Amino acid sequence: MQAARPDSYTILETARTQVLEQGIGLAEDQLVEILSLPDSALPATLQLAHEVRLKHCGDDVEVEGIISIKTGGCPEDCHFCSQSGVFDSPVRGVWLDIPELVKAAKETEATGATEFCIVAAVRGPDIKLMNQIKFAIDRIKEEVDINIACSLGMLTQRQVDQLAGWGVHRYNHNLETARSFFPQVVTTHSYEERLETCAMVKDAGMELCCGALIGMGESLEQRGTGRATGGPGTARGPAELPQPPAGNPLGKPGHHGRQGRPSSHRGLPPGHAPHGAPLRRRPRTDPRGPGHP
Ligand code: SF4
Repeated sequence: MQAARPDSYTILETARTQVLEQGIGLAEDQLVEILSLPDSALPATLQLAHEVRLKHCGDDVEVEGIISIKTGGCPEDCHFCSQSGVFDSPVRGVWLDIPELVKAAKETEATGATEFCIVAAVRGPDIKLMNQIKFAIDRIKEEVDINIACSLGMLTQRQVDQLAGWGVHRYNHNLETARSFFPQVVTTHSYEERLETCAMVKDAGMELCCGALIGMGESLEQRGTGRATGGPGTARGPAELPQPPAGNPLGKPGHHGRQGRPSSHRGLPPGHAPHGAPLRRRPRTDPRGPGHP
């Protein structure tokens, strides 16, 4: 018996008409149906996603350089993150100084990149970090012609307004996974807290770069709930955000992994690579645990 042609799946034909021709995003049940297709459908799915990207985003690729001003020792317990100070991890806390940041921004500009992102492994910035960021931004703007982005964890409204006022062009803040799966991945803060920062960033007029991880044990249904906010597993985000954030991987084929398969760390800030192996929690008395900046 002749095998079905890989492009003959009804859901892909529907998606072609709906997304490519009509510009209407897929519903959650449609995404789950695509996620459930056999591997033989992968080439056709990738081809369709490529066509969607070309039509709606063009063929330009924006290059962004990223530098970590503060690495490791984070008090949060994101189970995928090697920078969490709560677990045993070889990553140790390191701070960069301002001249090093300016030098990195110049090097980034020289590569042709148009964006330079400053990231920190923190729950959210304290006054000391905000002052450093302000100083770094001023210095970089004096010497380098490049957009500046930040990824500094959860923000207050005042911090959002400060960053926007200082000319930060884009903020990276991921939703990590589906709302319903979030408590199994992070226990030191909530999905809602992350969503709140995303909404404030959008409202302040900064671009929002927002992603998630797959392959952390979530179901296909949970992956399918993030259809328009920043990738797989960003559950019900579109209902709560004013509009899908910039950097949104809607329609990208990365959603196609199997359950339980190790994921890439697309969408995470640099240094936020997921750990492949289960992490062992440090005792709560560890000085790099809760209470670290
Ligand atoms: S993902 Fe970010 S907030 Fe979570 S532990 Fe890593 S650095 Fe901290």
